[in-house]
Amino acid sequence: MIKAILFDISGVLHVDNAPVTGAIEAVQLARDEQKVVRFVTNTSRHTSTDMLQSLLRMGFDLSMDEVLTAPGAVRLVLQQRHLRPYCLVHEQLRPEFADLDQTSPNAVVIADAAEGFNYENMNRAFQLIMEGAPLLGVGLNRYFRQNDQLQLDAGPFIAALEYACDVEAEILGKPASAFFQTAVTSTGFAAEEVLMVGDDAFADVEGALAAGLRACLVQTGKYTPGDEEKIRHPGAWLCRSVVEAVHRVVNPSDYYSNK
Ligand SMILES: [Mg+2]
Repeated sequence: MIKAILFDISGVLHVDNAPVTGAIEAVQLARDEQKVVRFVTNTSRHTSTDMLQSLLRMGFDLSMDEVLTAPGAVRLVLQQRHLRPYCLVHEQLRPEFADLDQTSPNAVVIADAAEGFNYENMNRAFQLIMEGAPLLGVGLNRYFRQNDQLQLDAGPFIAALEYACDVEAEILGKPASAFFQTAVTSTGFAAEEVLMVGDDAFADVEGALAAGLRACLVQTGKYTPGDEEKIRHPGAWLCRSVVEAVHRVVNPSDYYSNK
């Protein structure tokens, strides 16, 4: 039985600034049915606080301690290892790292920096890594959907630096197993009792299945037909939206008898 649900945020609960139809009620239904809920995101154009505020404005009911972000995971690792980061991140994410010492950097952090991914900044990151700085990535997402168009995410830029420096990045958000484990531990349940709901076949679904969770791909956000065929692990659910995903958790017999 599924006892906890991890919701990806962008593309699952909302698209651009509007909630996905029925998503607010679906999260509430999960709570009413005593499911533990968490909100897990690789989104790195906003701080955790900004993300929480925008979900609250849209009408979702959630609190800060239910939100796990990839930038938050990066911040924790920087603190634990006493690293001074060179942050190639979006302007709006800078506050997340503002209180960390960033003089003479000895680590490189890459998030979705948008226009910040220019030659000068990428070259600076490249030089630091060649001097021995570890490359820390928020996520490996290839792209996301915004204003009805697919947009490059951080993954391709991390891959470029890995190629140039012949190193492997340490990915601290989805699809890293450690990120999913942190989320699972916070629910108090075992991985197989936790369902990840996401619109990214690789970072959300494949990553969660590899970490031992259950997973559901929704056909909203960045989903394009055929994405489900890219999932190598067996057992993924395919649902029209987060609404169907929650209904399937709450009324499993409706689905097992029909399918
Ligand atoms: Mg998403």
